[in-house]
Amino acid sequence: MTTGSDLTLATDAQTLTFAPEGNRKSIAAHPDRPGISLVIPVYNEEENVELLYQKIVAAAETLNRTWEVVLVDDGSQDKSFEKLEKIALKDQRVKIVRFVRNFGQTAALAAGIDHAKGSIIIPMDADLQNDPADINMLIEKLEEGYDCVSGWRKNRKDGLVLRLIPSWTANKIISVISGVPLHDYGCSLKAYRREVLEGVRLYGEMHRFVPIYAHWMGAKVTEIPVNHFARQFGQSKYGINRTIKVVLDLITIKFMSSYLTKPIYIFGSAGLWSLVACAAAFTWMVVLKYGYGTSFIETPLPVMVSMFFMVGIQLILMGLLAEILVRTYHESQDKRVYTVKKTVNLD
Ligand code: UDP
Ligand code: MG
Repeated sequence: MTTGSDLTLATDAQTLTFAPEGNRKSIAAHPDRPGISLVIPVYNEEENVELLYQKIVAAAETLNRTWEVVLVDDGSQDKSFEKLEKIALKDQRVKIVRFVRNFGQTAALAAGIDHAKGSIIIPMDADLQNDPADINMLIEKLEEGYDCVSGWRKNRKDGLVLRLIPSWTANKIISVISGVPLHDYGCSLKAYRREVLEGVRLYGEMHRFVPIYAHWMGAKVTEIPVNHFARQFGQSKYGINRTIKVVLDLITIKFMSSYLTKPIYIFGSAGLWSLVACAAAFTWMVVLKYGYGTSFIETPLPVMVSMFFMVGIQLILMGLLAEILVRTYHESQDKRVYTVKKTVNLD
């Protein structure tokens, strides 16, 4: 039942702990932890990986911190893994997680985060559309006291009709519904303090909602403009239908955040309103018959009475069913949505 397209975002609320305001200033490197973990999903990016590695090294060397990069090969069918492995054999800071098959960008990101050890976690794309040189800026912003800094592709280099317009619309809707005013949820390049991500599980297209989720959990979230380049090698893995998935995911997280522990409130109240409508239609029907001599079958009211009655009862029963599901769900938190085939430079 659990696949890469499951639409849930869950977290173990207790594990989300944030540094107190005063402690936020500097992000101390843990003795056996690198300062920074870059996390990069890779799916059929053979032409990009070598150049990506060079750009990362060039950018990371200027940071004055220890770093690692966790590359997750999401079941590539091309030579991506072989190329990555070659790099990893020469450079211990390069870690690879290889999936048995393609599980999707969100699952790849989740696996990367699970294997990352850094105090700061920075996801980005493998296709060189993001600029590793922006990392420094993201970290500086984080150190101003934020828990999550989201990149904003202010000058985004993607197709207008199929990418920019749907994305612009989706971003507006998301920002209104979530109450977290970011311009570009979809930008992969973001920076998180480790604590923000601990315990967060990602499904569907949900990686873009992590800042929202973090905000709901009390994290300080901000955004800064970052560079964006057109894809030079390989192809985008997505088209217009991603927008639909994103909107559905949004409904799910809104539901989850407000009603995850009490689904009966949302189903039950809809059910009760339906029963109220049933009672009203029934009363009106009786008044019409005995007050005005209108026969029951001259009006659509009997149909409405039975419809509202059935819908009302059904919704309440569904709410109870959801309550049972929620209990099961909370007790099966430990499942993963991916299977690892092999790891390199990781234990
Ligand atoms: N990606 C992945 N698994 C997938 C699809 C994409 O790991 O099933 C990776 C891909 O290699 C890239 C990132 O996710 O590093 C973003 O993908 P893409 O560039 O195709 O998305 P776009 O930039 O067009 O939104
Ligand atoms: Mg891309």
